[in-house]
Amino acid sequence: MQMISNFTDIGIPEEIAKAMDDMGWTEPTPIQIQSIPLGLERIDMFAQAQTGTGKTGAYGTIMLGTNPSGTKVPSAIVLVPTRELANQVSGELTKLAKYSGHVSIPIYGGASIEGQLKKLKAGCDIVAGTPGRVRDMINRGALNLSAIKTLVLDEADRMLDMGFIEDIEFILKAMPKERHTMLFSATMQENVKQLAFDYMVNPREISVSQDEVVLDLTKQYYISVGRRNKSWALCRILDIDRPKAIIFCQTKKMVDVLDERLSELDYQVEAIHGDMPQSKREKVIRDFKEGGTDVLIATDVAARGLDIDDISYVINYDMPDDIDTYIHRIGRTGRAGKEGTAVSFVTSEEEHLIKEFQMRTGIDIEKRSVPEAEPGQKDSIKRVVDYDQISDVFGMCRFEINLGRNDGFGKVSLADFIIRNARVRDVSIGKIQIGPDSSVVEVHKDFGNRMTMDLTKAKHKSKKVTVRVIQD
Ligand code: AMP
Repeated sequence: MQMISNFTDIGIPEEIAKAMDDMGWTEPTPIQIQSIPLGLERIDMFAQAQTGTGKTGAYGTIMLGTNPSGTKVPSAIVLVPTRELANQVSGELTKLAKYSGHVSIPIYGGASIEGQLKKLKAGCDIVAGTPGRVRDMINRGALNLSAIKTLVLDEADRMLDMGFIEDIEFILKAMPKERHTMLFSATMQENVKQLAFDYMVNPREISVSQDEVVLDLTKQYYISVGRRNKSWALCRILDIDRPKAIIFCQTKKMVDVLDERLSELDYQVEAIHGDMPQSKREKVIRDFKEGGTDVLIATDVAARGLDIDDISYVINYDMPDDIDTYIHRIGRTGRAGKEGTAVSFVTSEEEHLIKEFQMRTGIDIEKRSVPEAEPGQKDSIKRVVDYDQISDVFGMCRFEINLGRNDGFGKVSLADFIIRNARVRDVSIGKIQIGPDSSVVEVHKDFGNRMTMDLTKAKHKSKKVTVRVIQD
């Protein structure tokens, strides 16, 4: 009972506090402490909060605490950007309503409309839906919003980024002007502020500061690795750290490629992106949640709002190019009080992003090396020389050749030897340092393979030529 009073102390009705206790929650999170007392007074709010802060519990409590159950015609609606989030929000509301008896249903596109129509017909208290499908339901006369008293716009920034503004405006017109409105957004970009300004009455601003969110439980690292060695680095992490991980790629194509490559090597992985049928996506998420698979490869859209507690790693296989996406991604780990690790693979052209993200979040992103293989452990993917990664700003790489002054070479004759035997253009050869027995030569990255393949076939007076790429 001690636990329950932590919740009732901030005004949470006892039946909801009891449900929270059943869910294993012991105390309200900062966003819940800030927003629930205001929300229960039906004050409009504009809250900056990311996934992982407990925002669903915050607005869920307010919705349940200010609207009766058993109404049949919905009195509250939550708009969210993705189907996964619609399901998740509806699920969390149902758990919170264990004793209050509110009925919540998810409404989203990409799934058969019949089942959702049937549920709407049977009646509910709260709808959690994506804007497109909600609009569709209104048009079909299946969803009546005339009794709405509470509206929540969740992940408003993402809904706007996904182009839902017209749908949202249409839906807003279908509900009473006089209502309680709450807006949650991870970022407060201009168009989100405009939305708040247009549709809320004197909203209170709430912000959960960066260090109160998930981020402080998430250790952030980056690994400097070229494009060609990312899968090598990834396999090392999977082999050695054996994480429960989400791997983010920038494109659907990359998700498929990586899925195929890892599956061929017998890693138990699953992939999820927007081109997959809804039923497949749901199955993949279920498998991952229930522990059937430990590694999920995903695009940003597909992974949005995924609520899985025990993810130990987020791996940015491809670096996102904006901070919001970065924060959203790493918000998948370090949830509900657990520690998490976020690792980003960063190519040399992307290092500036790390500096920028560090500055914007005020949190260190530490450089880390690829974990060492244990003795005797073989890499499932071999490391290759990535000339893009090791070259300097002019595209030059350094090679050590076992020919020097004692073999009779000077700068000009060695350059000549390379031009002839490795078919390198003379303008692609840079500085040459001649040593007694070996020399270091700069050659443009485009000729990297010729240096190691062709030049090593050559002989200088019966001496076999060897070439070593200088990697650091
Ligand atoms: P959200 O920010 O809504 O995505 O919530 C993140 C996770 O935290 C979800 O798994 C919630 O069930 C969980 N959560 C929300 N509030 C609390 C709380 N007071 N104590 C523990 N876990 C919570």
